[in-house]
Amino acid sequence: MPLNLIMLGAPGAGKGTQAERVARQHGVPKISTGDMLRDGIRQGLPLALVAKAKMDRGELVDDDTMIGIVRERLSRPDAVNGFVLDGFPRTVAQGRALDGLMSERGSGPLMVIDIVVPEDEIVRRLAVRRICSKCGTNADPADAEPTCRTCGGTLVHRSDDDERVVRERLRVYEGQTKPLVDYYRSRPTFGTVNGAQSPDRVAEELEATIADAARAAAGASLGARG
Ligand SMILES: [Zn+2]
Repeated sequence: MPLNLIMLGAPGAGKGTQAERVARQHGVPKISTGDMLRDGIRQGLPLALVAKAKMDRGELVDDDTMIGIVRERLSRPDAVNGFVLDGFPRTVAQGRALDGLMSERGSGPLMVIDIVVPEDEIVRRLAVRRICSKCGTNADPADAEPTCRTCGGTLVHRSDDDERVVRERLRVYEGQTKPLVDYYRSRPTFGTVNGAQSPDRVAEELEATIADAARAAAGASLGARG
């Protein structure tokens, strides 16, 4: 069965890292909104250029444009056995459109996994987070090294990781994503993972949740056939 996975989680929940790991493990591409836009712009794809023009004017990219970009990306050969989406969908309208796209594809159900971390834990994590000023890599918090292990650049604390800014960012995320989580929550292929554990434990729980969702999906399609 293909792995069609959407990963949800607040900024600081460790979603990007886990999405990367799951994608590698299952041999499917990890598709993030940022990568998709950058790729599309580099290749001169019309919709990506529309999105870029909007962003350059400081506007948000509208749902229709975003969905068109996702449709193009998911139609490439490397996504034939599935994908891990990171950062899309972000709204219920995008979620509905993605459901439509999935039924066109006819390639099995979507799985949705929400990585949940309590707000205070996210604030604590980001307070100690240092990132490389040169390449943007996140430094391992347990690492006492003063410079980036990837490129040797200086590690800095970002001012938008300060508590007040982080809490505000989480509020925005909640307001935007809660309706989307509610949209998916009642499906048998929806699951949550406790993100307030070590990355290895989170990865284990994530794999177990994917296996549960796959069983639920298989059961649902058996039921549909019978
Ligand atoms: Zn670096």
